[in-house]
This record gives sequence, C-alpha cells and structure tokens, in this order.
Amino acid sequence: MEGPSTAQVPGEDPLVFIPRPTLQLRAILAEQRQALSPADFSEMAAEITSLYNKYCAALAALPPGAERGRALHRMMDAAVDTASAVPISCKKGCYGCCHSEVEVTPDEVEVLLEVVLSGTAIDRKRLEVQAAREPRSPEWAKFWSIENRCVFLDGEGACRIYGDRPAACRKLIVTSPPEACTTLGATVRPVRMLFAELLLSAALSFDADRLRSISQGLHPRLPPVGTT
Ligand code: SF4
Repeated sequence: MEGPSTAQVPGEDPLVFIPRPTLQLRAILAEQRQALSPADFSEMAAEITSLYNKYCAALAALPPGAERGRALHRMMDAAVDTASAVPISCKKGCYGCCHSEVEVTPDEVEVLLEVVLSGTAIDRKRLEVQAAREPRSPEWAKFWSIENRCVFLDGEGACRIYGDRPAACRKLIVTSPPEACTTLGATVRPVRMLFAELLLSAALSFDADRLRSISQGLHPRLPPVGTT
C-alpha cells in the first residue's frame, strides 16, 4: 500500500496534489483563496502541505489493517477535539447524517469486519441493497429514505458501533438544530475543521481506488447469511 505519490510543492494549491480531498476541505480552501492575498494563501498552503504530509507519513508508518484503521480513528478524535470549544448540537438518537454514503478505507473495512464477526448486529438485508448500488448512486440523494439507513443504526436511532465508527462519521458534527438534518430545505451548519478534513483527505488518498461505502466494503467480506 503506497501513499499519494504526486510531487508536493510547498505553497502550491494543496488541491493539486491531494487525490481525494473531502468536500469540506475543498470548501475551506476555496474560502481561504477568496479571503487571503496570494502571498498569504501561499503561506497557508505551505502549512497545509506540511500537515498533510505528516498525516500521510504517520499512516504509512503503521501496518495495514484494523490496527491502522483504529489508529486513524484515534487521530481523527484528536483532530476533532481541537474544535471542541464549538457548541455542537449532535446527540445520541439524532441520526439524519446516518443516511448517507459513508466512504471507508480498506483499513476501516477490517475494523468493521472484526466488529460484526464479534457479534454486533447488522441489517444484512439493507447491507445487500446498499452494496448492490453503484458508487455515488442517485439512490443516496434520497438521503433519509429507509433504504439509506446505515446498517449499524439501531431501533432508537443510535449507532451500534459508536466506538468503532468510521473516521468520516467522527468528523461530521453540526451546530444547527438536530431537526435540520432531517428537514428538507433546512439549513445545516457543519463544523468545518481543517485538521480533521486534512486527516481524512490523507486517509482517503491511500488506496484511493479501493475506497468503498460501508456496505460495499463489508458485504463481500462477510460469510453468507446462515453460515455463521
Ligand atoms: S457507522 Fe454509526 S455513525 Fe456512522 S453512519 Fe453508521 S450509524 Fe451513523
């Protein structure tokens, strides 16, 4: 497993060399490009390049698999903690964001596999439906339809794998009221965290062609229903 190999020039727009920037990282950089002078943007870009390289190196130094998946989760929690002064409104039982196509790295698939094989309940029917979709299927745009519910949501709208949830879930926090996440047309205010977005972009840039949704990653790895 190799990291991103494109030459990285300090001061250059980081989007030039980050293979899989998150949408939020794109938004942050677009904002900063508008707000800053070219010289200041170049300085900020050099700092971002340096941090991105550090995240890539830290991940590359770890053995692939569940261990690196969990290390990514710890790193993400630390990155999210840097924004802990922001009053967020997410709480147990609000689950609007758990109806979307969550991308996971191959390492995170190994974490999820361990969790399921150790006995955590999963909705196998929905797993099959979601796994059969093309990546970025229009079905996901229906957002909080029942078919889009995460296979790990329980009946109370709580995450069954909270301690092992993917990095993409860990950094998704909002300051808008929880109801806005399930109200068509409502304004949702995600908390933008540069460190978290850079870290996830670094993780997604490894094995970028092997990224899958939770269901697409997990489905082919699980034994057929009734064989366990
Ligand atoms: S893994 Fe947990 S937090 Fe992430 S989408 Fe599924 S239920 Fe929600």
